[in-house]
Amino acid sequence: MDFNYTEEQEKLRKEVHEFFSSNLPSDYRPRGVGGTGTTLEQFQFWMDLQRKAGAKGYLTPGWSKASGGLGLSDMEQGIVSEETSYWGATWPGSQGIRVCGPPVHVFGTEEQKSTFLPGIAKGEVIWYQAFTEPDAGSDEANVSLRATEENDHYILNGQKTFITAPGPADYLYTLARTQDVIPKHRGISLFLIDAHSPGISYSALATLGIFTVDIFFDNVKVPKSRLLGELNRGFYHAMVTFEFERSTTGAAAGARRNLEELIEFCREEKRNGQPLLKDPAVRNLLADRAIEMELSWLQGWFAAWHFSQRDKLGSPPPEAGGLHGKVVSADRAQQLIDSLGLYGQLRRGSKYCKYEGRAANAWMSSRSTHPAGTIEINKIVLAGRGLGLPRIPAKFNKEIRAAVEGVGV
Ligand SMILES: Cc1cc2nc3c(=O)[nH]c(=O)nc-3n(C[C@H](O)[C@H](O)[C@H](O)COP(=O)(O)OP(=O)(O)OC[C@H]3O[C@@H](n4cnc5c(N)ncnc54)[C@H](O)[C@@H]3O)c2cc1C
Repeated sequence: MDFNYTEEQEKLRKEVHEFFSSNLPSDYRPRGVGGTGTTLEQFQFWMDLQRKAGAKGYLTPGWSKASGGLGLSDMEQGIVSEETSYWGATWPGSQGIRVCGPPVHVFGTEEQKSTFLPGIAKGEVIWYQAFTEPDAGSDEANVSLRATEENDHYILNGQKTFITAPGPADYLYTLARTQDVIPKHRGISLFLIDAHSPGISYSALATLGIFTVDIFFDNVKVPKSRLLGELNRGFYHAMVTFEFERSTTGAAAGARRNLEELIEFCREEKRNGQPLLKDPAVRNLLADRAIEMELSWLQGWFAAWHFSQRDKLGSPPPEAGGLHGKVVSADRAQQLIDSLGLYGQLRRGSKYCKYEGRAANAWMSSRSTHPAGTIEINKIVLAGRGLGLPRIPAKFNKEIRAAVEGVGV
């Protein structure tokens, strides 16, 4: 592996850096959108910047120029995401950019590509990834939102839940049941749905950290041309979607900036007359953070490099970085709260809060380990696809279920 950027890559990095430093206010502090405390003003600010980044092609640098991207390599895409992440830019349209758009490239018709991709690349639209239902989370094959064929369209009835909603949706990337078959995962299809279609309604569902919604479908008419990929193969297309969703190149840069700011805060903040930086527990926390950040940086670049070599090496193994982040996030947030004393519990907005209430915010976000798959599901994926371990025999699964439900096998 070569750890240096080429001259061209360094030029690109500087350009993206310049874009953010000239478009963000000098007193800017990273702050995402979609959290439960996001204001309309903050949302608008990020939408505006998203459009500007889209005009430069920075939202989707790896997409073809025809789709609104820059046609850059995997490594160069990594450079853009690293800079973007360093500035803490959490785009309102990130679901379209990272999760829903890439599979349209892979499975979409030419008409779908030209209809949907440029809007995502330009930062003009917001997509929701609408997979989860009250009885279909980890068990995605259990989707029961019903899509019934009728002439040149499908009629959808049912519900989605816990859908991340960083702003009002334009499109829904939706899994629905198109056939009753055993095994169940062979009767599901994927649809690209206009979020304003008659019969769709939304209801707020606040969680700790991320704002989500319930979505209800009442006789919603969806043209057949909005089926993505093959009929009844939606489960497989969803698995590919998860691969895009779980890829984390660049995430370490956000952590680096957070760490720099935390160190700065600990240098200035005093406890019992001493800067926090002299407190052994705080020093421990900072050192742990630095180690994790370096590991995640290496992992992210390894994944980007592996993607760049996939013609020779095949798809990269599932990334462990995101999973590791989920596992340690609760402990890390608790340590941060403890190091700020009682102030650590105060949320952004309180006039007494320290460090902009980020400790309490981190604590709340650390409870949201379910998006992009729970810790257990990510471990199952890593064990099977990453380590090549055999699947749990079906018999064993039945025994676990019987034990949980308290019935005989
Ligand atoms: C803040 C937030 C944002 C979200 N955003 C979206 C979104 O944008 N789009 C979307 O479609 N969904 C979204 N979700 C839903 C999320 O994907 C699901 O919550 C997740 O897949 C788990 O499903 P579930 O909630 O039904 O829990 P369940 O699947 O019922 O799981 C309950 C518990 O059982 C464990 N478990 C389940 N099966 C197994 C197994 N086979 N082996 C071991 N343990 C198991 C799980 O790990 C978990 O601890 C979001 C959820 C949250 C909390």
